[in-house]
Amino acid sequence: MSESDILVVGAGAKAAALAAKVHTINTLGLGEISMTVIEKTEPAASWLGRNGMTSGEEPLAIPPVKDVGFPYQSSRQFGQVGDEIDAALLPFTWQRFAMERHEYATWVNSGSPSVMHRDYGRYLGWVLERATEGVSIYDGRVTEVALAEGHESWQAEVAERGRAEDPESHRGRVLVLTGPGVHRHFPHDPEVESRVFHCDSRREELARVPEGEPVEIAIIGGGESALSALVFLRALRPQARLTVYTPTLPLSRGESFLENRVFADPDNVDWEHLDVETRRDFVKHCDRGVFDASVLERIADDDHLSFVCGRAMHVSLAADGEAALLEFDSPSEGERSQRYDYVVNCTGFDLLRQLRGLFPDAVRDEVEEQCGPLWDSPPKTEVPIGRGLELEGVRPRLHIPGLGGLRQGPGFANLGSLGLLANRVLQPLLSELGVHFAGISETIEDKSLLLD
Ligand SMILES: Cc1cc2nc3c(=O)[nH]c(=O)nc-3n(C[C@H](O)[C@H](O)[C@H](O)COP(=O)(O)OP(=O)(O)OC[C@H]3O[C@@H](n4cnc5c(N)ncnc54)[C@H](O)[C@@H]3O)c2cc1C
Repeated sequence: MSESDILVVGAGAKAAALAAKVHTINTLGLGEISMTVIEKTEPAASWLGRNGMTSGEEPLAIPPVKDVGFPYQSSRQFGQVGDEIDAALLPFTWQRFAMERHEYATWVNSGSPSVMHRDYGRYLGWVLERATEGVSIYDGRVTEVALAEGHESWQAEVAERGRAEDPESHRGRVLVLTGPGVHRHFPHDPEVESRVFHCDSRREELARVPEGEPVEIAIIGGGESALSALVFLRALRPQARLTVYTPTLPLSRGESFLENRVFADPDNVDWEHLDVETRRDFVKHCDRGVFDASVLERIADDDHLSFVCGRAMHVSLAADGEAALLEFDSPSEGERSQRYDYVVNCTGFDLLRQLRGLFPDAVRDEVEEQCGPLWDSPPKTEVPIGRGLELEGVRPRLHIPGLGGLRQGPGFANLGSLGLLANRVLQPLLSELGVHFAGISETIEDKSLLLD
């Protein structure tokens, strides 16, 4: 059994941001935090291209300078020493990583182009290797999380441990769950399964699409994962005809300085107190169901690609057994069906569906007793996520930053503000550990409103 202050499931982007901050705080002597990370595949598994989700060669939709410390405004959470913390984080920056590889000048001189998922994954792995002070990383798959005796901490059970001598259980005063989740369920008949792929299907599976033939493929979804599948399929099967079904008119992502400021600093617009419709609209315009403009440029002259506005509803096997039949509701023609060789479900990721499997029934009930209905709420319900990116009211704290986009700020569901995310998670823990920071400016009065 290992015991630490913070137990993190998954060594990805959020773990890297937390590890860098914990290392920095410990090294500066500001606190003594212990953190344990458990990773089932390999550090940065989601990004390297070896484990599904991405081939590794697809473009990252944010600039890599939004790295593990971004937006480097820690004084808002940690007062005067916040600046010291940010300065001590400089060895963990994307720039430092690129310099060490002698790639920085070339990257800047070529106009700081977008980087591949694989490059970003290597960066995260590099951070995790260096952020060692107080941080331990174990190989293993977390199979279950539950409250430890006395309900003072969380306990994770681990299978497929990297080394036989590694602990089977890990305890943490607080638990942080990471990862994008698993693909959202899309209704389809079991007989057509072999013709349906998902946004998290391993890229090798897509190689089932025959080569050198004008196959017809439908991609369902109007967001980043649809675009990622599209870019990958276009490179893999240049002759395929691709049709993207978007529920509303396809839109590119809003990312001017105005929108970006909200990702980096949601307090700037007093995000938490905006009405839910305004917050939802912003997320729709800037994150969910929108395409990255720079990636769209690459496919602008693709004459084997079309977009259909319509809500896809179901996939069945065609009567001759030789194709998939996609049923969809078109705003102009009502319910219709169309034949495809393959259908790719890119309707989004569902984090709660993935996490459900980690919690035994009794623990799920106990969590819901404290924070209200969670697991079976309808998909668009706002999840009660508090300022520390924790499930509100649940003790010991259970941080699920990926669910915090709507309630706390759009950047917490993605890579938009990893440094702030780490600060928000660490802030309550540090005050419990007796660490107090002077001169904290994070009061509502101090916030300059975006349009001031
Ligand atoms: C292909 C793809 C591209 C994306 N591109 C962008 C982008 O360009 N910009 C952006 O802002 N956001 C992007 N996102 C959104 C992205 O989901 C989040 O930004 C990101 O996943 C947040 O990092 P994380 O640490 O939560 O998860 P990850 O970096 O995915 O790390 C989660 C880790 O948890 C591990 N894990 C899962 N279950 C267990 C378990 N039971 N036991 C142990 N370990 C486990 C996984 O192996 C993985 O390494 C993308 C997501 C995907 C899937």
